Amino acid sequence: MSESPLPVRVRYAPSPTGALHLGGARTALFNFLFARQRRGQFLLRIEDTDRARLKPGSQEQIQEALGWLGLNWDEQPVVQSQRKEIYRGAADELIGRGAAYRCFCTPERLELMRAEQRARRQPERYDRRCATIPPEESARRAAAGEPFVVRQRMPAEGTTSLHDLVMGTVVFRNETLDDHVLLKSDGYPTYHLAFAVDDHDSRISHVIRGDGWLPSAPKHLLLIEAFQWPVPAFAHLPLVLGPDRKPLAKRHGAKDVLEYREAGYLPEAIVNWIAFLGWSPGTEDEILSMPDLIARFSIDKVQPSPAIANLERLDWLNGQYIRRLSPDELARRIASTMGEVPVERVRPVVPLVQERLRTLAEAPDMLRFFFTRPDGYRADQLLPKGKDVEATAAAIDACETALQGLTEWAHEPVETCLRELAHRIGWASRDLFMALRVAVTGRTVTPPLIESMVVLGKPEVLARLQRAKAALKPLN
Ligand code: GLU
Repeated sequence: MSESPLPVRVRYAPSPTGALHLGGARTALFNFLFARQRRGQFLLRIEDTDRARLKPGSQEQIQEALGWLGLNWDEQPVVQSQRKEIYRGAADELIGRGAAYRCFCTPERLELMRAEQRARRQPERYDRRCATIPPEESARRAAAGEPFVVRQRMPAEGTTSLHDLVMGTVVFRNETLDDHVLLKSDGYPTYHLAFAVDDHDSRISHVIRGDGWLPSAPKHLLLIEAFQWPVPAFAHLPLVLGPDRKPLAKRHGAKDVLEYREAGYLPEAIVNWIAFLGWSPGTEDEILSMPDLIARFSIDKVQPSPAIANLERLDWLNGQYIRRLSPDELARRIASTMGEVPVERVRPVVPLVQERLRTLAEAPDMLRFFFTRPDGYRADQLLPKGKDVEATAAAIDACETALQGLTEWAHEPVETCLRELAHRIGWASRDLFMALRVAVTGRTVTPPLIESMVVLGKPEVLARLQRAKAALKPLN
């Protein structure tokens, strides 16, 4: 059973109870890679039967995050809440086959039962009181309107084996399995019934899901067997942990997928990063694009032990991907974070920052001075150490005159002109460049100064020098 004989069809099946987090994105990615490599289908299913935990807007957010990562699904998403009648029919079918039964125990009785089990230090599970109600009596009570749930009838003995593509063979003792609920009293199915019915209806060949479901897997196998359906292959993905070996969470600095977008990460970098959570190509390669991943992904190489997420690695990867974008593409992405600034104005400054950006979110601050003049100066920034207002105003004035006289506005002549000037007035070029940097950009940390001045153009640089001088005057 390790390889399914069915054509490859897999699915990502989030519950819309919040945003798409990294663990979910990794499950989706592994399903996607597997499907694309095998030329199969990757489906999306919305598991919204736990009505109490639904969060409005979550489905849309999850879909947006998947789309941003490039994990495009095939076919219409299946939405479980629209299939209530189908699950009810499936539960009836199981009751007819004797593989499930109606349980009329009240919540109060079940609570009492569990309390007693706890007191006796026994595992908490259903004591099967309703398992022996004769079918006619069960049908009569249901028809009379008595509330019930439907429970799966577990075998009392024997073992059930799962041959998992990641975890290997896992053998479960049937006597440990609880007669869990398949259909709740509100008529909604639990995950166990709904996933089995939907995977069958969608002709899913491989169930690739989080290992939180591993303990339930034997019940799932027995359920599929009871329906006499073909059994898909299973692959349970281990947890993603933070560096402290606790489940990866916000307190580690992890963000939901769309928050990474806000923070200026590239989807390419996120995809590359999460692909390596528990998987590696088995070589030294660290930068793998989506097509590389599709070509090289292999479910057998997914580690059964938990993956440790290293957030610093993501920063490094993000820088690598920023460097690899074409300047046109980087300009387009930066412009999309800068609101009003058109892409044609961003394009000329891209070469100045492409090597320095760690995230796209740094770009607006780093680049704003190209598009808007500094709206004020701080004297403590404008004055180099040991230089007073008068000397600095005179130096800026000298720069203005010298630059004014340049016939060619390019890196080499501008730099030579300024270095000669510094020498002439007896300033260290470092000090002169610092005063100029602040005068031209309003900031102390910027992309390379001369290149920035060249891009800004002569008239704009001269205008800014005049403004800086004017700002110094009242201080004199
Ligand atoms: N809704 C389940 C979850 O979010 C899906 C598990 C599965 O992929 O079957 O854990």
